[in-house]
Amino acid sequence: EKQKLKRLRTTVAATLDGTVVELYANIELPQDVDQVKENGATGVGLFRSEFLFLNRDSLPDEEEQFEAYRTVARKMRGMPVTVRTFDLGADKNLDHAKRVAANPALGLRAIRLSLAEPQMFNIQLRAILRASRYGQIRILVPMLSNVAEITQTLHLIQSAKQSLRNEKIPFDEKVQVGGMIEIPAAALSLDIFMRKLDFLSIGTNDLIQYTLAIDRADDTVAHLYDSLHPAVLRLVAHVIRSANRASIPVSVCGEIAGDVVFTRLLLGFGLRVFSMHPVQLLTVKREVLRANLPDLIPITQKILKTADPEKIHALLAKLNA
Ligand code: PEP
Ligand code: MG
Repeated sequence: EKQKLKRLRTTVAATLDGTVVELYANIELPQDVDQVKENGATGVGLFRSEFLFLNRDSLPDEEEQFEAYRTVARKMRGMPVTVRTFDLGADKNLDHAKRVAANPALGLRAIRLSLAEPQMFNIQLRAILRASRYGQIRILVPMLSNVAEITQTLHLIQSAKQSLRNEKIPFDEKVQVGGMIEIPAAALSLDIFMRKLDFLSIGTNDLIQYTLAIDRADDTVAHLYDSLHPAVLRLVAHVIRSANRASIPVSVCGEIAGDVVFTRLLLGFGLRVFSMHPVQLLTVKREVLRANLPDLIPITQKILKTADPEKIHALLAKLNA
């Protein structure tokens, strides 16, 4: 079984009707890249850079971060490497964090923390930019909730670029900047985000948490964390459809992207880029190879029209039969 899957490593992920799909991998540390290559990913869709900051006493300096990003860029040999700027706070706290938020998931985390700590952010942006000439690095901004956060981030990226130019340090001038869509407010005001961003990545783990008001780290409400809630499905489908219409590349990098229960559903919604844990990649690829889009689309459209959980489950079973 495992041997059979391994044989799919170099097979192009295309549906029966010939639609090519990109299967990217999520990583936490540079050493994860070996597994990414073993499983034949066509890119890194999410490098959770905050893992470079965790379980230590001091912050990683520019040089250490540069080396980490460069290692991944080099090993991926020109394939996209999406570095998410640090998503610290909430469930991933710095050991020496000064502030303890009353409600960390709604507090100073991710891009909010980056904008509140511009020096720390600038070090990371310089490190990412410096690494960008060793491969195809893209910058991904987590937890956007309003457009001012993008404007400020783009401004800080411009300043980091200018400082590198002044120091005659080379970098890729065309490095792309994308945003994570993981707060319902961003999903529902997508047009303004799309005007400023080169690509989008849907973080369904947080999108589900914030849409349903279910703390993803709280076991007592885990049974209410429902990836198939109609509100979640409609938000995800809306983001994919809007991005496709605007010709803005869009991926899903939350857990559902690596779960074969969702593969056909997401294909039917129009998703063509999936990013997941590397060990899930070949099973998802097998599912893509077996899928036929003309059969899927009518059922996925029906799923979006019903709010009845039982009907959703029945239609999903039919879709996956
Ligand atoms: C997400 O929220 O879906 C996501 C991919 O990011 P993380 O799980 O790191 O919050
Ligand atoms: Mg997230």
